[in-house]
Amino acid sequence: RSAAADAYASQPVTTRDGRALAVLANAGSVDEVERAIRSGADGIGLFRSEFLYMQRQDGFPDEQVQTAAYARAAELCGGRPLVIRTLDIGGDKSLPYYRFPEEENPFLGWRAIRVSLELRDMFRTQLRAILRASARGGVRVMFPMIVSLAELRDALALLEECKEELRRQEVPFDDRIPVGVMIETPAAVFMADELAAEVDFFSIGTNDLTQYVLAVDRGNRRIAAMYDTLHPAVVRAMRLTVDAAHRHGCEVGICGEFAGCAAHAELLVGLGFDELSVAPPSVPAVKERIRGLETPQAELTARRAVEAATASEVHELIGVG
Ligand code: PEP
Ligand code: MG
Repeated sequence: RSAAADAYASQPVTTRDGRALAVLANAGSVDEVERAIRSGADGIGLFRSEFLYMQRQDGFPDEQVQTAAYARAAELCGGRPLVIRTLDIGGDKSLPYYRFPEEENPFLGWRAIRVSLELRDMFRTQLRAILRASARGGVRVMFPMIVSLAELRDALALLEECKEELRRQEVPFDDRIPVGVMIETPAAVFMADELAAEVDFFSIGTNDLTQYVLAVDRGNRRIAAMYDTLHPAVVRAMRLTVDAAHRHGCEVGICGEFAGCAAHAELLVGLGFDELSVAPPSVPAVKERIRGLETPQAELTARRAVEAATASEVHELIGVG
């Protein structure tokens, strides 16, 4: 694309009636952050930190390695938001240097925040690195796979301990670093009010939320046709989450692959999302679609989708087959 096209894509986006929305990008490496910002993303809404852990052969990345990677990503973002998700390992993702337990149901097993809260030194190292990188500005931290307030509070307490340590060591960091949780389990949806009261932002992970709401394995091709984020149950879960977030002045975004399809923008704007985080190549098309939307019409579409009785009705409303 031309430089002029890149410059146009980078402009903040508003609907026709002037509602502003941030369109950020998902990234799984520092190189991808660079590409995403070049394609006009308003920041990084999901930085999947697990790539740093999966690339290595000989053990967890140390604080220096992580600080350097996060700080470089923050520098590339130039003050735009950089949402660093803490390690989301387990499920279908393993590490060459760490023996995970054999599990019958890895997606219902020892993954993400459950691993971090148990391997606490490893988690502290990551939190310290994120905090150190936050001195560059724009950095936010987000916890994956939260199912309870107890987990969130445990993670927040560790974050506080790390802050205290850095203060004692006179290492600079952003004391007001925004903290968020991924809403990707039914439990988090039902506890959204309580969670929203204790964090600055939510990001709905529709890849996992769809899997867990519908009890349909996201990677099982045999039942791929059942894996449908436009099932009214998933749409209702999104509505509950957005409304709970806004009751508590908590920002709410979405970072599942679902958000990257421009045809879904009307539903997402209508549900009231403040930001969408999409695969980098989708940024220009999603922004373009948002520019053509009218909020009241989008809200009507969202209301109808929430009230729909079947997935086919929602597909018809949204205009995707
Ligand atoms: C999600 O679950 O929607 C998500 C964005 O996280 P991941 O795909 O990395 O599990
Ligand atoms: Mg997920």
